[in-house]
Amino acid sequence: MLPPHRKTGPLPSFSPSFMSPKSTSSSERAPTPPGPPQIWWGNAFFFVLVHIAALAGMYYMPPWKTKKATLLLWFLTWQLADFGITVGYHRLYSHKAFRASLGVRIVLAILGSSAFQGSIKWWCLRHRLHHRFTDDPIHDPYAATRGLFYSHMGWIFFKPTHERMHLIERDDLESDPVVRIQHKYYVSSALLFGFVCPTLLGALWNDAIGGYIWGGLVARLFIWHCTFLVNSLAHWDGLQPYSDEDTSRGNLILALLTGGEGNHNFSFQHHSFPHDFRSGPSLLDWDPSKWIIFVLHKLGLATSLRRVRSEDLGEALRYMYRKTVLGIVEPEDDSWDGPEWNIEQVKEFAQAKPGRCVVVINGTVVDATVYLGEHPGGANMLRKYSVRLHDDADMWNEADWAFNGGMNTHSRAARKRMREFRVAKLVG
Ligand SMILES: [Zn+2]
Ligand SMILES: [Zn+2]
Repeated sequence: MLPPHRKTGPLPSFSPSFMSPKSTSSSERAPTPPGPPQIWWGNAFFFVLVHIAALAGMYYMPPWKTKKATLLLWFLTWQLADFGITVGYHRLYSHKAFRASLGVRIVLAILGSSAFQGSIKWWCLRHRLHHRFTDDPIHDPYAATRGLFYSHMGWIFFKPTHERMHLIERDDLESDPVVRIQHKYYVSSALLFGFVCPTLLGALWNDAIGGYIWGGLVARLFIWHCTFLVNSLAHWDGLQPYSDEDTSRGNLILALLTGGEGNHNFSFQHHSFPHDFRSGPSLLDWDPSKWIIFVLHKLGLATSLRRVRSEDLGEALRYMYRKTVLGIVEPEDDSWDGPEWNIEQVKEFAQAKPGRCVVVINGTVVDATVYLGEHPGGANMLRKYSVRLHDDADMWNEADWAFNGGMNTHSRAARKRMREFRVAKLVG
C-alpha cells in the first residue's frame, strides 16, 4: 500500500508572494486539494509595476545623465541585497552551511528583506522544496523541466499549492527569533530597506529621485533577475563537473552576476553536495559569498562552516570525467559481504545504544547515528524513518521509499555516503 503522503495530482502552479509572505501559510502545514492554476494577480501586478516603473525611470534618468554617487548606490544596494539572499537566505538559513551571530543574522535579514523576494521563512521553505524535488514538474516550485521562462519568472504569476510543503523541515526556521520577527514585519521592512533607504541616501547628495529610481527600482530588477537566473539558466547552460543527475549547471557568467551562486552544480544541494558553505570549492571559483562567510568566520561572527569531504569531491569529479570524456559509466557498488541480520537483530542493535539511529534502506541496515548532524534533510527526517522499538513498523518500512525519491531523490554522492554507514544486510 502506498504511504498516505505519496500523492500526485493535476499540475498545480506556484508563486512567491513578494508583498505578503503570510498569505501562503495555510497551504504549508498540510496537503491541499490540487486545483486548476490560478493567476496571482496581486503578485503579478506588483512585479510588472516595478518593471514598468524601473524602465520608465531609466528612460527619464539614463545612466549617462545620472550622478556617479547614485550609480554607485545602485550597485551597492543590488550587491548588498544579493548577499542578503546568497549568504543569508540561501547558505545560512536554507542549507545551514554555517552558524552566525545574532548581529550577523539581523543584518542578513535586513539585506534579504531589501531584495523583495519574500521573508526568510517563505523563501527557505520553497528553496528546500526545490532541492528536495529538483526538476519534478509538480513539486519543484521552479522546475527547469517546465521550460526556461517558467523556471525564471513564469512561476511568479501563479498561486502556489505546494502539496508537499508539509514534508519540509521548518523547526529550525521557526525557532529563530530573527526569522520570526522578519516574517512578521516583512512587508514594512522590504519597503523601508528596499525603497525608502535608497531614496534617503540619494537625498544626501541631492538626488533623492535618482536614489529612488536607481537604488530602489532598478536595483530590485537586477536582484530579482540575477537570483532567478540561478533557477533558470543555472539549470540550462554551463557545465556539470560534479553530477549530471539533474539539470543543475555551473556557469561563470552566472557566478559573476549572483555573488558566486552560478557554480550551481556543486553548491550545497545544488545539487551534488549539500551544506557546503562554498558554492565554488576551488580557489579559482568566483564566489564572493564564500569569502564573506570566511571573513565573518575569521572575525568570530560565523562558526561551524561546513565543507564537503575532499575525497567525495575528488571521487565525483573523477566519475564525471570518466563518464563525459571517456564515456565510461561506473556502476554503483551495492554488493555486501558483511553480516546478515533478521529484523529482531536489527531492533536489538538499535536498542543497544541510547540515541542510535538505524534505518533500513535497499535491504541493508544503516547506522546513521554519526550522520544525524550532517543530514541535509535534518536529523528529524532520519529519526522519523528509523527502526524504533514501538509499533511504527510502517514508518521504518517506508525508509526505502523516502530515500529513493519519496522524500528526496538522493544524489549518487549521497547514496555513496549512505553505503559507508551500512552495518548488515537485512534477511528474513
Ligand atoms: Zn540551495
Ligand atoms: Zn537549483
